[in-house]
Amino acid sequence: MSNMKDALGRTIDYMRISITDRCNLRCKYCMPYGVECVPRWDILSLEEIQAVGICAAGLGIRHIKVTGGEPLVRRDCCQLVKQLKSTPGIEKVTITTNGVLLERYLDDLAEAGIDGINISLDTLDRDLYQRITGTDALGTVMEAVRRACAMPVSVKINAVSIDFSQMEEDCGECPAGNQDGWQQMVELAREYPVDVRFIEMMPIGYGKNFKTINHRELLEEMVKAYPRMEEDDQVHGFGPAVYYRIPGFKGSIGLISAIHGKFCSDCNRVRLTSQGYLKPCLCYEDGVDLRRILRKGQERPEEEGHYRWPYAGCPSDEGLQRELRKAMEQAVLCKPAAHCFERPGQITEAHNMIAIGG
Ligand code: SAM
Ligand code: SF4
Repeated sequence: MSNMKDALGRTIDYMRISITDRCNLRCKYCMPYGVECVPRWDILSLEEIQAVGICAAGLGIRHIKVTGGEPLVRRDCCQLVKQLKSTPGIEKVTITTNGVLLERYLDDLAEAGIDGINISLDTLDRDLYQRITGTDALGTVMEAVRRACAMPVSVKINAVSIDFSQMEEDCGECPAGNQDGWQQMVELAREYPVDVRFIEMMPIGYGKNFKTINHRELLEEMVKAYPRMEEDDQVHGFGPAVYYRIPGFKGSIGLISAIHGKFCSDCNRVRLTSQGYLKPCLCYEDGVDLRRILRKGQERPEEEGHYRWPYAGCPSDEGLQRELRKAMEQAVLCKPAAHCFERPGQITEAHNMIAIGG
């Protein structure tokens, strides 16, 4: 089994694949005004994603996270999960979703072999939820959480730690208040067997208009409220979260602290955008264009629908795999030592999170 290392000796075994840049929500820190819809041609097809998956697995990627935009708005999402899951070498395929369409697709995802479902949910306050996401869908998402928890898959809730009190002026009609909402989120892990994870807001795209809650301070508050909370050394997945257990709780609490607990020295991931650009780090625009390789340099045709994939039917084509491999290895070798979120002037990634996949 291959083991891929970057130039600093970090093992790279995790790839996030964004399968669409469309979404049915309008989160204030992600895509408040929607996105300019790119032509369907620009987005990688199922077979093209499969080809990248085969190559990645051969290099040493073991875990794939399917993300977006909202992955469940793409009609072939479950089929994609199934294909990625059946790729030799891939051990786990998980998905990150806003949960709005999840209930409808839970059985198909289970049938496709999904290993874990991350549901993004920043608040349990219905009004605030609507103001953050632009949609009154908290009830729908909570119903999906309940149903997912009754299935034999791992369920995680992801909440971005937004410091509403320090929000800058220029982010439109921003929500305000609910600084103490974290405790309601923590209580979800008492009731359900879920990992509730708090994610520090990162200054990417519209995220730049927001301040993050400092997780060191959040942890202090949590320990005050739950004095018996203690660090959990059990491995919960492939990511950088630090987990805590609270006696009597069915689930755990996780903190992902990209800003105040920089974990770059242990970073194990690369990201594939929906348009086939492989990024070794979220913070910088550098990467390699795999779509150019997948399409043998073809340009977008004048009319939609006249496009034929040069490797039709054969994602494992030897020549294609050789070229993809070279490009992916090159991207991994160029993986920077660390992000520079603390020095915003040096961030070169200008795309929104929706285009990168979070
Ligand atoms: N639509 C899906 C969802 O919301 O889970 C998948 C895509 S979304 C971009 C992936 C994750 O990135 C979500 O949990 C979202 O809250 C998070 N996210 C978006 N912008 C962020 C930012 N600036 N900082 C931290 N997390 C962010
Ligand atoms: Fe959509 Fe997810 Fe972005 Fe919210 S965070 S707008 S749900 S892609």
